[in-house]
Amino acid sequence: MNNDVVLRLKGVEAGYGRIQALNGVDLEVRRGQIVALLGANGAGKTTTLKTISGLVRATSGTVEFEGEDITGRRASDIARLGLVHVPEGRHILKGLSVRENLELGAFTVRDANLRRQRMGEVFRLFPILERRQHQDGSLLSGGEQQMLAIGRALMHGHRVLLLDEPSMGLAPKLVLDTMRIIKRLNQEGTTILLVEQNARLALKLAHYGYVLEGGHVRMQNDAAVLRADTSIVQAYLGD
Ligand code: ATP
Repeated sequence: MNNDVVLRLKGVEAGYGRIQALNGVDLEVRRGQIVALLGANGAGKTTTLKTISGLVRATSGTVEFEGEDITGRRASDIARLGLVHVPEGRHILKGLSVRENLELGAFTVRDANLRRQRMGEVFRLFPILERRQHQDGSLLSGGEQQMLAIGRALMHGHRVLLLDEPSMGLAPKLVLDTMRIIKRLNQEGTTILLVEQNARLALKLAHYGYVLEGGHVRMQNDAAVLRADTSIVQAYLGD
C-alpha cells in the first residue's frame, strides 16, 4: 500500500461568526486508510469535514490535498479534485428518481461515457439502487437513502471520501451494512475520513483514529490502541 499523506490539516481554525469551533486542528490521512474522527457532541467533527471540503472557511491554518494547498478554495473545485464530502443527513432530492439523484452527483463530469461507467460502478456496489432507479429517491428506506447519498458522491469521481455520520438514524442491521460498504470501498482503493458517533464501531473499521475535544485534537493513535483503552472510550467518545 502506498502510505503517503493525502490529506493534511495544519493548525486549522474555523467557526461560525463569533463562535470558534476549531482551535487549531492538526490531522493527517494516509492513502488507503480509513481514519476515524471521534469526539463528543460539539467537539468540532462536522466543522472539520466542512472546512476540508470548503463549506466552511478556515480563518487560520492550512488544508493540503495530495500536497496541494486547497485552503479557501471553492467547495465545487475541491469536489472536482476528487475530495468528496457526504454530509450528515442524506439530502436526497424529492421528486427526482434514484437515477436522477445519481446523475446530479456527476454534474461536473462532462464525459458521458465516464458518467455511464460510474453509474455502472455504483449499481455494481449497490444493486438495490439499480432495481429502484426509476423510483422517487425520497421513497427509499433510510438505509437505501444512505446508499444513494454515498453513490451520488461516487459519481463525482472520488479518491478521498469524507463521510459524516453515515449510520445516523439507521436500524442496527443497516448500520452494519453501511459499515461493510465503507470497508469494501476502502478495500477497492478509497481513502476515507469517517465521522461516527458509534466510536467502537468506527474504531473496528478504521486504521487510525483522532479524538477531538473543544475544537482540537485531544488524542490520536492506531485504532486498535484507542479501542483497547476503555477509559478513553468512556471519557472521550461519548458512549
Ligand atoms: P455533533 O456530533 O453534535 O454533530 P460535532 O463534533 O460534529 O458535533 P460541530 O457540529 O462541528 O461538532 O460543532 C462544533 C461547534 O460549532 C459547536 O459548539 C456547535 O454548537 C458550533 N456550530 C456548529 N454549526 C454551527 C452553525 N451553523 N452556527 C453556529 N454554530 C455552529
